[in-house]
Amino acid sequence: MSAAGTLFVVSAPSGAGKTSLVRALVERTEGLVLSVSHTTRPPRPGEVDGVHYHFVDEAAFLRMVEAGAFLEHAEVFGNRYGTARETVERELRAGRDVLLEIDWQGARQVRAAMPAAVGVFILPPSREELERRLRGRGQDSEEVIARRMAAAEAELSHYAEYDYLVVNDAFAQALDDLSAIVRCHRLRTARQRRALAGLLAGLVTGGASAC
Ligand code: GDP
Ligand code: ADP
Ligand code: 5GP
Repeated sequence: MSAAGTLFVVSAPSGAGKTSLVRALVERTEGLVLSVSHTTRPPRPGEVDGVHYHFVDEAAFLRMVEAGAFLEHAEVFGNRYGTARETVERELRAGRDVLLEIDWQGARQVRAAMPAAVGVFILPPSREELERRLRGRGQDSEEVIARRMAAAEAELSHYAEYDYLVVNDAFAQALDDLSAIVRCHRLRTARQRRALAGLLAGLVTGGASAC
């Protein structure tokens, strides 16, 4: 199947700002949808089932694994997270771009299953700022924050597996960088040939299929 849309995979150490950035990006970008993951993590205050995550228990999650329902799944900070295959494939077929906000283990599985996926890694401007943001979010316990800081270095060590690196120092700048990546991929010839078939047929003798 050659998907009509592009799959973007965004990773970052917890607290780097990927959720804030990704939500802002999806809001300002038509035709870009965010995949809602399944997780066994309990909801944080304000998190809504079906919006931020599909919150499921361990048994339900494992049933989905058995059924092959996940495009990728991984254990992160002692909880399970997974991306439902069906939803992603449906959106891509419909010509929409899909964004996954997942960890490096999941990104690796997605790259293996869908080599055309575009990987973006978000870096914090410094270690100190990363810790400040994790605390500032005020939604995780001290123990969880310590675990996430310890895991940050492991996550960061995988940056070279991604196609793009974006530093989230000034939020607006990082958001513009993400927009540029999406826009750039929408202008690729493979994608434009589909979108501009009528124009190309009129401009080029032999139509868009020549070459
Ligand atoms: P997540 O669910 O852990 O990924 O985090 P959220 O996306 O829920 O984080 C929302 C928070 O981000 C809010 O409390 C804002 O204060 C903060 N925030 C978002 N953008 C900026 C920014 O440009 N500057 C600052 N200082 N804070 C920001
Ligand atoms: P992640 O999803 O990577 O764990 P979040 O999006 O939850 O990160 O961001 C962590 C915290 O940092 C949040 O409180 C968020 O408001 C804040 N934050 C995000 N981007 C910036 C930024 N550019 N400058 C300052 N604070 C930011
Ligand atoms: P949080 O609990 O802060 O929402 O997310 C913790 C970590 O799990 C983040 O690194 C996030 O990218 C990752 N994550 C969220 N959803 C998925 C998913 O569906 N698959 C994988 N592999 N990781 C995910």
